[in-house]
Amino acid sequence: MRIVALDTFDIRFPTSRELDGSDAMNPDPDYSAAYVVLRTDAGDGHEGHGFAFTIGRGNDVQSAAIKALAPYLVDRDLDGTLDDLGGVWRELVHDSQLRWLGPEKGVIHMAVAAVINALWDLKAKRAGLPLWQLLARMSPEELVELVDFRYLSDALTPDEALSILRRAEPGRAEREKSLLASGFPAYTTSPGWLGYDDDKLRRLCKEAVEQGFTQVKLKVGDDLADDVRRMRIARDVCGPDVRIAIDANQRWDVGPAVEWVRALAEFDPWWVEEPTSPDDVLGHATIARQIAPIGVATGEHVQNRVMFKQLLQLGAVSYVQIDAARVAGVNENVAILLLAAKYGVPVCPHAGGVGLCELVQHLSMFDFVAVSASMDDRVIEYVDHLHEHFADPVVVRDGRYVTPTAPGFSATMRPETLATYAFPDGPMWKSPDDNAPLRSTLTPGPGSE
Ligand SMILES: [Mg+2]
Repeated sequence: MRIVALDTFDIRFPTSRELDGSDAMNPDPDYSAAYVVLRTDAGDGHEGHGFAFTIGRGNDVQSAAIKALAPYLVDRDLDGTLDDLGGVWRELVHDSQLRWLGPEKGVIHMAVAAVINALWDLKAKRAGLPLWQLLARMSPEELVELVDFRYLSDALTPDEALSILRRAEPGRAEREKSLLASGFPAYTTSPGWLGYDDDKLRRLCKEAVEQGFTQVKLKVGDDLADDVRRMRIARDVCGPDVRIAIDANQRWDVGPAVEWVRALAEFDPWWVEEPTSPDDVLGHATIARQIAPIGVATGEHVQNRVMFKQLLQLGAVSYVQIDAARVAGVNENVAILLLAAKYGVPVCPHAGGVGLCELVQHLSMFDFVAVSASMDDRVIEYVDHLHEHFADPVVVRDGRYVTPTAPGFSATMRPETLATYAFPDGPMWKSPDDNAPLRSTLTPGPGSE
């Protein structure tokens, strides 16, 4: 049995029309997926689905990068490949020519993420298990084999990783049961998009509390007076017991970040997310020291495990926000979960976009069963957009993710979505009454003001 095809799709949703997803750096995103399907000749009907998330322009570039990995996958032995995803990861990431495009960062690394995640989706479907459970039932030795420890050994050795995983082994079955019974805590970002007016913010905060969320998040960083007013509204509506995180999406330099967060401190923010450049490890450490006890969170643009290592070594983050498709997929996220466990920092994944909730829930649940063995201060981001496009969409009830049980990585988009939202020729982009011409107009981000 072999992998016989790697097909890519440029899928874009016109979310900028409603300002869903608008924040201080991304005023008009069109949530998009550079989508990949791996097909086999196994005759069992299973395909591997994966994607990289982008926010519109450039999704074609991302798709082309995924296509560039096809020679590694097509015509490959199916069982041998799925039995050695640690080895496959190393091959893809360390290709001696493609590596030049990173190394281990950006478009080419996200392409590896899409493909690696598609392989995991396929492996889990063939095993008849949801991905979280497939991972959580692997032995500590098998899990360590998935991780590339290159550049990590000063912070985490294979032996240490083994002992973390072995420590969590005894309670695995019990934690699986509790996950299946009561799910995993979620928080919602839906009330707080920057493009929403005060009435919408107030209404959505109220709904979030009524729906059982114990944490919400507000976008900040465009205008301080606006942020003070919006935080006051959110705190009034949510009351003192709901955690309110704030997210600046990289808007500030280090000094202004500290001043801005201090100006909002009276509203008791739980964490500040992406206060500055995701590459500025020392900057994050400085901010963390100066705004304590307010936490610093980051990760959705942290490009690889080496950056996470440094953030953890310096005590620069209080919450690690893994992203399922920014670093190179499941394997690298296993490495990051192990690093976070070693440093005792809770993992609270980034999600939203399109399909990121579907994917990352599996990683948090695996973390709970087999790595950190804890739910304390752990929440998965939830945004209630675009789930209807997935065959196995996330379900959030009473402020918690309902544990998925369908085999796979929950990555499969519905076929009609792949047809309708294909860019630029799908009906969603071809229809005469849409504002498609906007899509070809460059809109400089706030950074270029
Ligand atoms: Mg964010």
